[in-house]
Amino acid sequence: MRIAIASGKGGTGKTTVAVNLYYFIEKYLGKDVMLVDCDVEEPNDALFFKDAELTLRKQSYRKVPFIDTEKCTFCKKCSDWCEFNAIVISPGIKFAEIYSDLCHSCGACTAACKYNAIAEYDELQGSITTFETGIGKGLLEGRLKIGSAMQTGLIKDLKKEIKNANLHVIYDAPPGTSCPVVETISDADYVILVTEPTPFGLHDLKITVDLLEDMKIPFGLIINKSGLGNNGVYNFSKSRNIELLGEIPFSKDYASSYASGDILKEIPLSVERTYFEIISKLKSIIR
Ligand code: SF4
Ligand code: SF4
Repeated sequence: MRIAIASGKGGTGKTTVAVNLYYFIEKYLGKDVMLVDCDVEEPNDALFFKDAELTLRKQSYRKVPFIDTEKCTFCKKCSDWCEFNAIVISPGIKFAEIYSDLCHSCGACTAACKYNAIAEYDELQGSITTFETGIGKGLLEGRLKIGSAMQTGLIKDLKKEIKNANLHVIYDAPPGTSCPVVETISDADYVILVTEPTPFGLHDLKITVDLLEDMKIPFGLIINKSGLGNNGVYNFSKSRNIELLGEIPFSKDYASSYASGDILKEIPLSVERTYFEIISKLKSIIR
């Protein structure tokens, strides 16, 4: 069972929910669970496990093509096949170049070239780290190389490190609804959306709900910082029949525990009660 924790925007409490569910699924359901931080641009799940032990770190590479202008006939077939406009061919001046920043390593250009003019090299895209956290099967973290914009390849590599297919896995997805989010949730059995009851939260929630409905992935909603904002999120979720898994009340003390990385050490009773109820609702999914 793979559950992704997603949010249409940053700052809604997605990571807090992911870390807490990881903790409480083991505590209340006694399941072997692994937390996977797919927010590779800014991974911070590890900050909440101060005693975590780093057990493995490896580099992740992607294939990036380049053109041998000695062999190239400047026929432009590769640039026609590239959906990401990463290739510029100018036959008049015999110019051919691939811009690696735009390249998604799909391999289409290499397959398209009939003149064997395209080769590939390995480019570092980031690192993958495994931590023992003392909870379940630990934490897997992907961290994008500084300056790299290609998150999806690293997220794919990160998932390959989940060796046990029977494990319960929590994905902490990147914020938003772009390609890295789609990559993260693509093999999720269930998505938990986290939002806050504000107009901004509602705006991004609508976009994320449309995405999940298009992808036909079942999902439920957690409203974080309840008690703030207005009723827009509640009215919307009711009108779309979205299951409300729980509401986490806003607590100043808990927010400062987050800031100091202590959300698992100082859990207010009201917050623990909420997670207990959420876990109870997830029981039918987590078998
Ligand atoms: S398909 Fe091959 S030969 Fe044609 S422009 Fe691209 S690299 Fe050059
Ligand atoms: S690998 Fe794909 S994205 Fe990259 S340059 Fe070739 S066709 Fe474009």
